[in-house]
Amino acid sequence: SCLYPELNVIAETTMEMSKNVKDYLSRIEKEKHIRQEFFSNASHELKTPITSIQGYAELIESGMIQDESMKLDFIRRIKKEAANMAGLINDILMISRLEAKDAEVLVSDVRISPLLEDIVDSLKPAAADSQVFVHIDCQPLCVRANPQQMKELLSNLVGNAVKYNHPGGQVWVNIREQDENIVIRVRDNGVGIPQESLDRIFERFYRVDKGRSRKQGGTGLGLSIVKHIVNFYHGSIRVTSELEKGTEFTVMIPVKWEEL
Ligand code: ADP
Repeated sequence: SCLYPELNVIAETTMEMSKNVKDYLSRIEKEKHIRQEFFSNASHELKTPITSIQGYAELIESGMIQDESMKLDFIRRIKKEAANMAGLINDILMISRLEAKDAEVLVSDVRISPLLEDIVDSLKPAAADSQVFVHIDCQPLCVRANPQQMKELLSNLVGNAVKYNHPGGQVWVNIREQDENIVIRVRDNGVGIPQESLDRIFERFYRVDKGRSRKQGGTGLGLSIVKHIVNFYHGSIRVTSELEKGTEFTVMIPVKWEEL
């Protein structure tokens, strides 16, 4: 090999190239696997409400139910399941749009306070049931962002804090600017998240308590969408939680993310 030093160079280059090809292929394999898993989860999640809808519809159709109020109750359940499906489909579309990063995202100055007020208003029916109080503490801040995405981010975090709470529970939303970052903190004194689940809650379709989450209209996609949005703005998200004590999410978004 000393006689032909260029052979060494060729051998090294070939090795390097084959390693790159191998890495590339395994990345593609991994992406393929993730995609397959996503489709199989999504189909499964869609089948659940469809099965209930079919069941209720057949019961009504059979004429076996004489009681009018029972019929009405079944119709209400059908509507609720249909709403769950619509929510799921919206979330799936949102994720696929966020993942196709080439999508054009229009940004404008989003005023946080009125946005939060809207979100809390729309959560009122869910919160009123269990008397969850939302406290907002935020300066009249403006964020340069996509309004839809900001709404999605905040409504998922505040919505979860209300959803996974006890009757009489509380939620604190604090938003401020600090060191060129917008810092959003959403804290609740609800059921909390087990330590071993903390890493997984951002995964698509991951839920700590499947039954409970589904009953409350959860899709298991909310936090994954939040994470995608945070990443889009080159921000970060942290969570701390203690079972039966409560949970706190902290999101940081650089004010000047556009220039990054
Ligand atoms: P879901 O649609 O089920 O709410 P998310 O992706 O929004 O899905 O959240 C994933 C899981 O994380 C939830 O199913 C729930 O178990 C847990 N979780 C999220 N936020 C909270 C919170 N504030 N308190 C307790 N558990 C939470």
